[in-house]
Amino acid sequence: MKTIWQQAFIRWTLGLVVSFTIGILIGKLFMCLFLFVLFGLCSNLYQLYQFHSWVRRLGKASPPEASGIWGDVFDAVYRLQKKQRKSKKRMRRALSRIENSTSALKEGVIMADNLGNLEWWNASAGQFLGLMKPVDRGQPVTNIVRNPEFFRYFTQKRFSEPLVIKSPSQEGIYLEIQTTLYDQNDHLIFVRDVTRLHLLEQMRKDFVANASHELKTPLTVIKGYLETLDMFKDSLPKSMQKGVDNMTTQSNRMEQLIEDLLLLSRLESNDKRDIDQWHDINELVNNVVDSVQAIGTKHTIHIVIRSECRLYGSYRELYSAFSNLVVNAIKYSPDGGNITIKWENHLDEGIFSVSDEGLGIEARYIPRLTERFFRVDKGRGSNTGGTGLGLAIVKHVLLHHDAKLLITSQPGQGSVFSCHFSGKRIQQPLAHKEQ
Ligand code: ADP
Repeated sequence: MKTIWQQAFIRWTLGLVVSFTIGILIGKLFMCLFLFVLFGLCSNLYQLYQFHSWVRRLGKASPPEASGIWGDVFDAVYRLQKKQRKSKKRMRRALSRIENSTSALKEGVIMADNLGNLEWWNASAGQFLGLMKPVDRGQPVTNIVRNPEFFRYFTQKRFSEPLVIKSPSQEGIYLEIQTTLYDQNDHLIFVRDVTRLHLLEQMRKDFVANASHELKTPLTVIKGYLETLDMFKDSLPKSMQKGVDNMTTQSNRMEQLIEDLLLLSRLESNDKRDIDQWHDINELVNNVVDSVQAIGTKHTIHIVIRSECRLYGSYRELYSAFSNLVVNAIKYSPDGGNITIKWENHLDEGIFSVSDEGLGIEARYIPRLTERFFRVDKGRGSNTGGTGLGLAIVKHVLLHHDAKLLITSQPGQGSVFSCHFSGKRIQQPLAHKEQ
């Protein structure tokens, strides 16, 4: 580059000297110098014109002939363009490979911007959700997938768990939707056909519900005979008396197990749900405590509800969840222990909690407590007559009520089970007096 500029410098100096000399010789110095400058200007303007028209043609043709600095500029731009074109080609090839591979994917992939407007999707996503190119491009995904559950999932950004919905475009197909936020809160949505899994899961649920239901009749008959036997217990030999007592306890347990299994099936199949209504917390908690005390308990139960409040949900479900927590506190703490049942109103949530001073639970078991039939200590549950389904029921009820269960516990010191309800489901005194 240095030599080009040196050459240009020499050429211009020579030109200047020649015009200067001619100017002196013919006695027209200024005119010669002016003509020299004019020539330089015109030749540069001409090269600029050539360059401009070449660039305007997107530099597709080879660059115009030029020497010196302009020739070098043309060459440099030409080389740059060639390089750019090559990398563009490479990128286009990579992009089409990605497009081809994503089209071959069985899973649907959708890209939407931070507002949820559709930007791109692969063939499977188009098929699953009935998306059409190019009409649906730029449309909000919630306008295309018209499903209330999906609307709630997407607008409330409940992306921690996948969502299963019916395909809006294909009859009998169930889809699992999983969303990840990336870059500037843009959405990457994965859609998977889970029809087979869904049907299997449905079969499992139906089986449990039907089997539990079918067990009810023979159990009622057995219980009937046991009650009759119990009436004539005194005339039975001693060993038989113990047998009758045992059979009565076990049949009661079995009845409770069937009831809990049926309740869980009902909770899992959303279609048989009660209609949500507003319920007075004070009344609900007192009813739970009354029914627990009616069975007979040697514990001291404290109820701490400082302000009136109403909770929106299914009475039956909430009653069942709260009484499970209270019954557990009684079952897993020694006689005479204190149990505190509290309702607290916070800014954006209401908390129902049950604390006991009982056995407590080791931290490693806490995440597993809501699994069906999970017991910290296998003997613990069966001695207390528990079914192992209580906390699974609580979890499902809370799921239906947009609430979450938090458990804190110290082995040997006691536990606190708290249900956190979102502000939308709570009416505090001021609000419901206005109604
Ligand atoms: P169960 O019918 O066995 O009580 P749950 O689902 O209600 O079944 O509870 C699961 C397990 O969690 C229990 O078996 C028990 O080990 C533990 N657990 C529940 N509540 C308490 C509590 N308040 N204190 C100590 N352990 C508890």
